[in-house]
Amino acid sequence: MLFENSLSFAQKMDAQDPLKDYRNRFHLPSFHPDGVRYFTGNSLGLQPKSTSSYIQQELDAWAKWGVEGHFLAERPWYSYHEQLTEKAAKLVGATNKEVVITHSLTTNLHLLMVSFYQPTGKRNKIICEAKAFPSDQYALESQVKFHGLDPDKHIVEIAPREGQHLIDEADILAKIAEVGDELALVMFGGVNYYSGQLFDMKKITEAAHAVGAIAGFDLAHAAGNIDLKLHEWNVDFAAWCTYKYLNSSPGGVSGMFVHEKHANRPELPRFAGWWGHDKETRFQMQKGFHPMEGAEGWQLSNAPILGMAAHLASLDLFDEVGMQALCQKRDLLTGFLEFVIDSISEKHKEKCTFEIITPRNQAQRGAQISMLVHGEAKKLFNQLTEDGVIADWREPNVIRLAPVPMYNSFDDVYVFGEILERAILSV
Ligand SMILES: *Cc1c(COP(=O)(O)O)cnc(C)c1O
Repeated sequence: MLFENSLSFAQKMDAQDPLKDYRNRFHLPSFHPDGVRYFTGNSLGLQPKSTSSYIQQELDAWAKWGVEGHFLAERPWYSYHEQLTEKAAKLVGATNKEVVITHSLTTNLHLLMVSFYQPTGKRNKIICEAKAFPSDQYALESQVKFHGLDPDKHIVEIAPREGQHLIDEADILAKIAEVGDELALVMFGGVNYYSGQLFDMKKITEAAHAVGAIAGFDLAHAAGNIDLKLHEWNVDFAAWCTYKYLNSSPGGVSGMFVHEKHANRPELPRFAGWWGHDKETRFQMQKGFHPMEGAEGWQLSNAPILGMAAHLASLDLFDEVGMQALCQKRDLLTGFLEFVIDSISEKHKEKCTFEIITPRNQAQRGAQISMLVHGEAKKLFNQLTEDGVIADWREPNVIRLAPVPMYNSFDDVYVFGEILERAILSV
């Protein structure tokens, strides 16, 4: 694709965009007089216009039925989560048995690690990415301590090489082989939240399995952004939140994946709750936990229906569009943003330059560009915000931007470029 940093080019791309009508299916923030250019769908996705009716339906059912809504609501609450499973499974490339929507992301990571991080003898180490999202770091640290081990010794972090921003894939694979029979678990992000680097989950999983370790992924920045094939890649477990690319409300529910090969392993240690208990005998309220088959066996609690309703609204949109179409637009839109940033950086290089740290290769990224600002970074960012660009600032000088294919337009990207140029000249 030959890009051009012009309004007419952006308009032409929007006119040809098969997903252009989906923008109208979302509430676009309107708090700025000149309009908002929203590039933080990787932090909190926008609200689908349909969400309120899905939630209202459950509020009405609650008003009408009270507790009877568990069985008599149009979408009975006791099995509400089952209505999300197939669509969520499709989204991450899993079978229905492998997926459940429940709890929150960090909770799910803990529940999965309780089962799948089993340090025994000298096989007791975890490999993860350096500077993982803080919640993941704390979760890993506390899991290691929970087993009476020392995080400094038992967590092996893989960092970018000196002077680099991205992790060399060869270093990940080499480290997995090196730690070898001391390795219990590889726990990586699918897409790194800071750099936007997409990791090869298939290769990492293969390498982990080759040394007898388990492979798990945090898909917070991958779900709804990357065309995932968790089952095919033989990933052992994964979890993701649904409020980033999946637009399912602030702090919304989370997804969990457990590979089918672990579906019938009641012997796995787990922290249990009644919702993971065999459905047939759950309401007999008896002693003795019998986990359900598959991912559902990791549920603790009955589902928070309002959050589930918001997720269902969004899953219906993803189901309609499909990941393939989204990924096609994602690469065009992200490529256009990359082009616009590069052009502006070149044009104003006396004053301010931008170093894109996200992989240039679109096979190694999703819908995110992280740019390192050489110049008056913070002032520039503040000016962008003042002019209606909602982006994300990371100390000391990185701006993260996510052009989300479901609702961002080529015009958004073009106007962002205009605002960026104006900001450069004003700081
Ligand atoms: C957003 C994000 C989280 C947030 O965790 P919650 O439990 O949903 O608050 C955790 N890990 C990663 C990698 C994230 O990107």
